[in-house]
Amino acid sequence: MKHPSWRCQDCGERLYEHIEGDYQCLNCGRRYDPDQLEENAT
Ligand SMILES: [Zn+2]
Repeated sequence: MKHPSWRCQDCGERLYEHIEGDYQCLNCGRRYDPDQLEENAT
C-alpha cells in the first residue's frame, strides 16, 4: 500500500517506500515505520 502523501516530519520532503518495508526521507535520511505514520495521519 502506497502513501504518497506522507511527508518527513523534520524537513517536509516526500517519503519513499524503502525496500525493507519502512519509509525513508531521501533529503535528510530519516526512516519511518509505516505503523507510526498511519497513527499520525488524520
Ligand atoms: Zn527529511
